[in-house]
Amino acid sequence: MKNLFVILIMSIFISCSGQEKKKETQTASTPTVEDAWKVKLTPEQYEVLREKGTERPFTGKYWKHFEKGIYVCAACKNPLFTSDAKFDSDCGWPSFDQAIKGSVKYTTDNSFGMERIEVTCAKCGGHLGHVFDDGPAETTGKRFCTNSVSIQFIPAKQ
Ligand SMILES: [Zn+2]
Repeated sequence: MKNLFVILIMSIFISCSGQEKKKETQTASTPTVEDAWKVKLTPEQYEVLREKGTERPFTGKYWKHFEKGIYVCAACKNPLFTSDAKFDSDCGWPSFDQAIKGSVKYTTDNSFGMERIEVTCAKCGGHLGHVFDDGPAETTGKRFCTNSVSIQFIPAKQ
């Protein structure tokens, strides 16, 4: 009877040690550039800047914002527009008649059955909006229709 008890204890011990958890194999691959953006940006910023989304008009924080300063890329802080270039277009998005020289890139965008010129940050490639030819005639005639979430305002020093 004593021997049976020992065998029982031994078999429990063996079966327990046999069930030692196998180490989980690492399946996570190297984080991609897009993964890094997902961490850095808010979901709204990611949707617009990286997936070329558009915020709803009249909802962004800068469409009626006319203080002195500069607007930088919300993702990489590249200076994009000055407040002097901003004008009240009533389209519901922040509108500028020009970008700071060399700060943006232009790409033809044929999505949604329209031919538009997409404007992206020259430094990080983030989507900013589109540029149209219906801006103020007395300056450049251009309207950089820009998403508020893609930019960040830095007030001019007093
Ligand atoms: Zn940028």
